[in-house]
Amino acid sequence: MRRPPIIAVMGHVDHGKTTLLDHIRKTNLASREAGGITQTIGAYEIEVQPKGEPKSRDGEANRGIPRQMPQKITFIDTPGHEAFSNMRAHGANIADLAILVVAADDGVKPQTKEALETILKSKTPYIVAISKIDKNNADIEKTKNDLLQLGVFLEGYGGNISYHLISAKTGEGVNELLDLILLATELENLEIDNAAVSGVIITSRMDPRRGILSGVILKNGILKVGQYIATASASGKIRSIETSVGEKANEIQPSSPALIIGFDRIPDVGEEFAAGDENAVAEFAKLASMREKAAVGPAAVSPEGQEILNVILKADETASLESLKNLILKLPLGLTVKIIDQNVGDLTENDVKRAINTNSAIIGFKMKMDRAAANLASTQKAMIIESPIIYELETALKEYAKKIVPKELRRLEVLAVFGDAKGKERVVGGKVILGPVKNQESFEIWQDKKLIGRGKIKNLQSQHKDAAQVETGVEAGLLVESDEPIKVGHNLLFVNPV
Ligand code: GDP
Repeated sequence: MRRPPIIAVMGHVDHGKTTLLDHIRKTNLASREAGGITQTIGAYEIEVQPKGEPKSRDGEANRGIPRQMPQKITFIDTPGHEAFSNMRAHGANIADLAILVVAADDGVKPQTKEALETILKSKTPYIVAISKIDKNNADIEKTKNDLLQLGVFLEGYGGNISYHLISAKTGEGVNELLDLILLATELENLEIDNAAVSGVIITSRMDPRRGILSGVILKNGILKVGQYIATASASGKIRSIETSVGEKANEIQPSSPALIIGFDRIPDVGEEFAAGDENAVAEFAKLASMREKAAVGPAAVSPEGQEILNVILKADETASLESLKNLILKLPLGLTVKIIDQNVGDLTENDVKRAINTNSAIIGFKMKMDRAAANLASTQKAMIIESPIIYELETALKEYAKKIVPKELRRLEVLAVFGDAKGKERVVGGKVILGPVKNQESFEIWQDKKLIGRGKIKNLQSQHKDAAQVETGVEAGLLVESDEPIKVGHNLLFVNPV
């Protein structure tokens, strides 16, 4: 069976992404009976009636897909860029196609470029919508030229990137854009197997009345009320499902967005989830959380082989700072604590920036923070552990330490990269932090807290001799094949069971 395509809209601010998404939603809602009650769950689903003859450019038949049947499309309507980077950070990827929106009155702008880079990095196919063509100062030729400069080779301009001219304001071209989306995703592999139920969290919030509300898009399987559900950071049992137009549902089909209630903690946006029976879900959650833990936090290892935790200490006054320091240095955390900075006073934006730049956790005792610092910390996901009560702080620190000492997932830290890559092959050296690491194994490449690629060991050596496997604490040389360049400081995670 095939699932409908999932689309993300990307581009520079003010180029008309929201207006386009609103227009499409208003004119094509899958379920009109719902009386237009819409809720912000981060995505919606439409049904389109493809108009006219198929616009197959190569004149071929349409591969058996009856074009006159209404077809569904799911649009992600959280800001595209954010959704993409959150998903990448968790190693998930949900969009089947991206639409790069460029306003004809403004041309290519810095965020157009950023959006394109994000799209290319995630290897998502894309098409271009040149928008705002109703405006007097719209300059379509200049916009196309700008795109060319950016390396976007449009159809008819020496390339094969499909594009369409639209006005989200008048609606001109929007139906044709929808047809183009169907055409562009027709050849993609959108097959599903109903065995595993999985998808991605796209929004997540706490409602004071209803509890934790999570907007999700289902990628595979059938999601049902009563199933267990889990991500790396949260789990629960599904108590209720609502569609994107606010109707209650007992189950939803692949590619559909939904609002679900049932998580007992707020899952992170961008995380993958699995649902189903208790055991399968628990197994998924264990692997997902090991993967994230192993890649979280301190990348460094002390000479004793311990993880190093960088900290910035903050307190309201000198005496408190002293107590905090004593606590930190005495606590048996199972890792080496390195104090990057310590000072008295409110937590400021500068402290947060420092923490991010030095990969430090902020530990605060009787600390206050200003709003700007709190905002920055939350958007940048800086780690802050603080309390006015010393034993609470102690408990929180121990909990945190447990999380960042990855004991369970096999991992190699890259210490050297040799020579130039030959195609996808390169030679790297590193230390096995947790082994064994085996020849011919597949791995994931993690940088900081992000999954950036995948690869496989083609040849494994220890002390310049071929080795079948290399144990914990031992250095290894690897000939690898990978889809992204590997750099010093990257972690290679081996997620398959030994
Ligand atoms: P976003 O930041 O990319 O989501 O852009 P918006 O959709 O918020 O649009 C920014 C501004 O451009 C708003 O004032 C819209 O009304 C206007 N706008 C968007 N699309 C069009 C269009 O096709 N034609 C015209 N004339 N204005 C548009």
